[in-house]
Amino acid sequence: MGKVIYLDNAATTKTAPEVVEAMLPYFTEKFGNPSSVYSFASGNKDEITRQREVIADALGAKSNEIYFTAGGSESDNWALKAAAEAYAGKGNHIITTKIEHHAILHTGEYLESRGFEVTYLDVDEDGVVKLEDLKAAIRPTTILISVMFANNEIGTIQPIKEIGEIAREHGILFHTDAVQAFGQVPINVDEYHIDMLSASGHKLNGPKGIGFLYIRKGVKIRSFVHGGAQERKRRAGTENVPGIVGLGTATARAIRTMEERTAKEIQLRDYLIDRVMNEIPYTKLNGHREKRLPNNANFSFRFIEGESMLIMLDMKGICGSSGSACTSGSLDPSHVLLAIGLPHEIAHGSLRLTLNEEITKEDIDYVVDNLKKIVADLRAMSPLYEDFEKKNRKLI
Ligand SMILES: *Cc1c(COP(=O)(O)O)cnc(C)c1O
Repeated sequence: MGKVIYLDNAATTKTAPEVVEAMLPYFTEKFGNPSSVYSFASGNKDEITRQREVIADALGAKSNEIYFTAGGSESDNWALKAAAEAYAGKGNHIITTKIEHHAILHTGEYLESRGFEVTYLDVDEDGVVKLEDLKAAIRPTTILISVMFANNEIGTIQPIKEIGEIAREHGILFHTDAVQAFGQVPINVDEYHIDMLSASGHKLNGPKGIGFLYIRKGVKIRSFVHGGAQERKRRAGTENVPGIVGLGTATARAIRTMEERTAKEIQLRDYLIDRVMNEIPYTKLNGHREKRLPNNANFSFRFIEGESMLIMLDMKGICGSSGSACTSGSLDPSHVLLAIGLPHEIAHGSLRLTLNEEITKEDIDYVVDNLKKIVADLRAMSPLYEDFEKKNRKLI
């Protein structure tokens, strides 16, 4: 295979070499169960404590507020289900948004089937939650607000501090799915009034299958996995020691490199956006122009089918992602693109490109040069585009 230009870092990232290196001994010589008494294994308990502190520091939290899980989906499930159950005596209403990850949306649907009421807030055309709508949705029975920190498709970053303030004023718990934001933008749980926060290792150059849920001290939350006494009796199961070491190492690395890495990504992201918007006609940028993740670009090309575009990009060694969910067996376009008001046919022609620190300006030029040609070729085959061109010509 030739060179691969990987622009799908919102789907998953490469595990950084220093992360792999830190993990390896915990598969081999340091394989002991952290709960064992002998010193050969109990050193692993100390190691887990150290990694918990690294992660807590990254959020301005305390280490006993960090609970390891098997990833972002589990953290989201835990936050919603366990909070709903623990606070059911106070009320049965939950507020979230229409643009959440399915780990939140499908958990919301599940809770609805169990008698909870869930409000899914609309967003504006940039994908931003409207604070007035949030305030209007609050009821005396509202027990939880869950709004993602940054969106995984269009990259829009939410006004998390303002949302946290509103939740705090009303005495409502605030959870945020920060899987895309953690390690990309600075987060402080006290400053933003966050009570619970989900994150995942493999989105920040850590391993897959490990994540955490931050739970503020004092929040009533039930055990999610019953069994042994691990994770302060709230999530049983022998700890994934290599995974925890990987997550902690990836977190330390992400915090250490954040400023320089994201500055570089923003520069290249904007270069990519400018070239595409200037050189490919009938194109829309999805998501907020400035309040977006440093590495996210998302476009809709009119008269194009996203899947065909992905296949043709793949033939050039370029990995991207389409806004439509065809690959997952459904013909519906992305719920996020529909929520920002895109008509079905335009949402279908969408492309998400998410950068990493290894991407260069030459890579971007290669991608845009190929993309221009692919879009032109696909449009040349589109009857809709032909009609549109004919009408345009008449107008001139
Ligand atoms: C990837 C992702 C998840 C799921 O995380 P996993 O670790 O893959 O389970 C949840 N929320 C958002 C916003 C994501 O991008």
